[in-house]
Amino acid sequence: SEEKSLNFIEEIVEGDLSAGKYKSIVTRFPPEPNGHLHVGHAKSICLNFGLAQKYGGSTNLRFDDTNPTTEETQYVEGIKEDVKWLGFEWANELYASDYFEQLYGFAVKLIEKGLAYVDDSTSETIAAEKGTPTQPGKESAYRNRSVEENLQLFADMRAGKYKDGEKVLRAKVDMASTNMLLRDPILYRIKHAHHHRTGDAWCIYPMYDFAHGQSDSIEKITHSICTLEFVSHRALYDWLIEQLGIFPSHQYEFARLNMTYTLMSKRKLLQLVNEKYVDGWDDPRMPTISAMRRRGFTPESIRKFCDLIGVAKRENMIDVGLLEFCVREHLNKVAQRRMVVFDPLKVVLTNYTDKDETVRCEDNPEDPNTTYRDIPFSGELYIERDDFMENPPKKFFRLAPGQMVRLKSAYIIRCDDVIKDADGNITELHCSYLPESQSGNDKSGLHVKGTLHWVSVPHAVNAELRLYDRLFNTEDPASYEGDLKDILNPGSLQIIQHAYAEPALRNAKFDDRYQFLRKGYYTLDKDTSEDRMVFNRTVTLKDTWAK
Ligand code: ATP
Ligand code: MG
Ligand code: MG
Repeated sequence: SEEKSLNFIEEIVEGDLSAGKYKSIVTRFPPEPNGHLHVGHAKSICLNFGLAQKYGGSTNLRFDDTNPTTEETQYVEGIKEDVKWLGFEWANELYASDYFEQLYGFAVKLIEKGLAYVDDSTSETIAAEKGTPTQPGKESAYRNRSVEENLQLFADMRAGKYKDGEKVLRAKVDMASTNMLLRDPILYRIKHAHHHRTGDAWCIYPMYDFAHGQSDSIEKITHSICTLEFVSHRALYDWLIEQLGIFPSHQYEFARLNMTYTLMSKRKLLQLVNEKYVDGWDDPRMPTISAMRRRGFTPESIRKFCDLIGVAKRENMIDVGLLEFCVREHLNKVAQRRMVVFDPLKVVLTNYTDKDETVRCEDNPEDPNTTYRDIPFSGELYIERDDFMENPPKKFFRLAPGQMVRLKSAYIIRCDDVIKDADGNITELHCSYLPESQSGNDKSGLHVKGTLHWVSVPHAVNAELRLYDRLFNTEDPASYEGDLKDILNPGSLQIIQHAYAEPALRNAKFDDRYQFLRKGYYTLDKDTSEDRMVFNRTVTLKDTWAK
């Protein structure tokens, strides 16, 4: 909104634009295609694309695909779908792997400048020689190889003369730096692995720190935004760009999204999938964008959430309730209201004779232009079993022997008789309805406090409902070090096999959003088939009305 103050990155951008440093900005969203995007990525997407939208720049979607063993085309496709669904359009679809030749050239240039060398040390030796933050490291025995030798060895690495781990290319920076990342970081490693795009063209692959900043520079990214873990990488980012004399992209760091009850590491999410604690990446209990879409979250509500949490410079933990609040608030505005009985108790209207009456009901009372639908009414109805009590406490305003309630958009009924089976279980209620109490035309003069949802028995549509709760029963699963299965919430999925829905739901489509009156927000699930409708509970209702 207009009066909202700028976040610190917007301040930097506005400063750069007004100082004439750039005519327009270019940002990028750089996912590694090694898993599906999660709500944390949504924050980064909203920030990067949002800045370009606000300041009239552009945003690239760049796949940071420099690690052949973990990356897959299937993830590339999923990521594109997710970004689009969130409502953003990238200026260019780019791949770090498309820069492999150019990156190789940059590495050669560093070697020629005496700023990179081939190291034959084992990874153990390299690690040991790195030293500690309080003690300088030890220079490698291979650090002073000649430019010519380094050029030859690097070309041989590329040509496949060596096995994985036999050699690496390192930048020659400063083994005594207080920033450990400047102690001759590795730029290239040997990996004889098939890449999902470049196939077997390469057996050496650039490290993140070498590929990332150089890709930013190739694309003339003005503001390269990443999370706080990369603060210490910035010195190397700047050093490489400066030594290569290429376009000076700048890196800025913001606090990643951490959320209660939510894991946000792709590695751990993959573990949940592989060990089958969830039913795939889009299991509606997952924090992935595909799961949130399947569950019924709207892109608008996720964008609103990202806007509300803001962009901070210090780590914090966001209450998952805030995301649910945003979803609920949007769905309240857009969801079509429907009636569904979860646990039925049959009501017989003993004085009802009409054969094919329908009652009108608004689809969304929050919408001033709401449409209406006609719901079939009949002498046999289902109500919720827990909307009836044989021996109710004082303020029970629902149905009880001799008590009256209104049926939503229909009539007032009174409970006359409770019918039981031989074991004393209630099987049905015999009620009478008040014909003069029709909703919208009520001449009964009666005032009843309770309004119940209902479904006509002969018209009811069978549906399966899936009710989700938090996947973990601990507030901070990310910092739990034990086995993930020990902190799973055993009640995270509850299935209601046979619910009874009003017939309008027979026409439900994917992406339709519903509020099942007094129950929650629901959407059709992809497991729906010709003979089975399945609905996901998106979120509960905050308040239940007229209980
Ligand atoms: P993960 O730890 O889940 O594997 P990642 O950072 O390795 O995440 P990338 O695909 O490299 O995943 O992330 C793409 C972009 O999204 C990066 O710029 C990264 O900083 C950002 N990002 C990832 N996780 C979060 C988060 N929790 N909050 C905000 N931004 C994030
Ligand atoms: Mg990453
Ligand atoms: Mg990662």
